Amino acid sequence: MGVLDELTRPAKDDDHVGGAPARLVAAPGSTEEAAALVAAAQGLAVVVRGGGTKLHWGPAPRELDLIVDTSRMAGMVEHAAGDLITVLKAGTPLDDLELGGQQLALDHPPGATVGGTVATGASGPRRLHYGTARDLLIGITVVRPDGTITRAGGKVVKNVAGYDLGKLYTGSYGTLGLITECVFRLHPRPAAHAYVRSTAPAQAVPSILAARVAPTAIEVDSATGELAVLIEGTAEGVRERSALLGKLLAGEITDAAPAWWGLPPWDADGIGMKLSVPLSKVPALLDAGATVRGSAGTGVLYAAASGITEVERLRALCVRGGGHAVVLTAPSPVRDILDMWGPVPGLALMRRIKDQFDPAHRFAPGRFVGGI
Ligand SMILES: Cc1cc2nc3c(=O)[nH]c(=O)nc-3n(C[C@H](O)[C@H](O)[C@H](O)COP(=O)(O)OP(=O)(O)OC[C@H]3O[C@@H](n4cnc5c(N)ncnc54)[C@H](O)[C@@H]3O)c2cc1C
Repeated sequence: MGVLDELTRPAKDDDHVGGAPARLVAAPGSTEEAAALVAAAQGLAVVVRGGGTKLHWGPAPRELDLIVDTSRMAGMVEHAAGDLITVLKAGTPLDDLELGGQQLALDHPPGATVGGTVATGASGPRRLHYGTARDLLIGITVVRPDGTITRAGGKVVKNVAGYDLGKLYTGSYGTLGLITECVFRLHPRPAAHAYVRSTAPAQAVPSILAARVAPTAIEVDSATGELAVLIEGTAEGVRERSALLGKLLAGEITDAAPAWWGLPPWDADGIGMKLSVPLSKVPALLDAGATVRGSAGTGVLYAAASGITEVERLRALCVRGGGHAVVLTAPSPVRDILDMWGPVPGLALMRRIKDQFDPAHRFAPGRFVGGI
């Protein structure tokens, strides 16, 4: 019996990606087993599945034979507390991390895995202070589409063929291969925190940034008209800085986040967009008529669009302002007629990288920018 027969089972009804049904599913238990599986799966179209929380993000795959499920590749390999580093297997749910007085500072929905978080490259409120998965990832192990295991950055070896593999795989949506292990930089868990909540307009953001209160996050929500700021640090520092900010914004200081904090603004079957603009353009997005929510401190926001006309209007607004807009998720009839990624610079380079890593275009075919 070959590796494929040993490791795969027939797909069930819920083994689909964005509506595209799979034929087979495999859940390898280690990097080596995953490499043997991928090497044996030449000729099959493959999509990797983590927690499945964002598997419907991006266009559906053009073809799908095999889902590689990462749930058996879970657990912490190492926590080097003195170096503020952890090594995690890709299928580890972020909810399960036990890091004592330290944290991996990535916001995430319940059930999201390490590999899925890196592969999606999305970000939540705390990106203002801690950066994104791309910034916190310092090393990566991947199984490339030909079955080769490559380790790069962090605690191990050197980069491959001149690429910073970690940066390349972050946000790649599973199109360049299977991520099996990640090395992350950690941060101390802050002793205290407070939220300053107000109805100040988004135009107040520059004064918050100039007030030297070192906010961890500045979030806005067009539905409630609220602006909320997260302050973290020592108990005394948080008291002083939140009091200063409370005065500046005529806001209320609370322990708890607003109910909308860190949640996408769209319904499960709605159209969800990610908008990236220079900070000065955030107020215009909030006034654009859609439900818009996100990081006013970094210019990365999420929107619920009511239909294609609104998608196009929001996209035009972002592009004119020097930013861009991507449709993350949409019901099938909308997906079929929308260019979910929209115009993206650097497409020729991305195509060359795809051709080099996955010459037969087997991994997540059609899911990335420009039909890659
Ligand atoms: C408001 C909001 C806030 C958010 N905050 C954050 C945040 O702060 N930080 C953050 O990182 N994310 C954030 N997310 C995004 C979310 O965390 C990720 O989409 C989620 O982590 C995906 O994990 P998953 O395990 O469910 O992946 P899945 O849904 O299973 O997969 C997602 C994608 O990754 C691919 N994939 C999964 N595992 C692998 C692997 N091992 N190798 C290769 N490809 C793989 C899949 O094929 C698919 O394309 C936020 C989203 C929203 C809307």
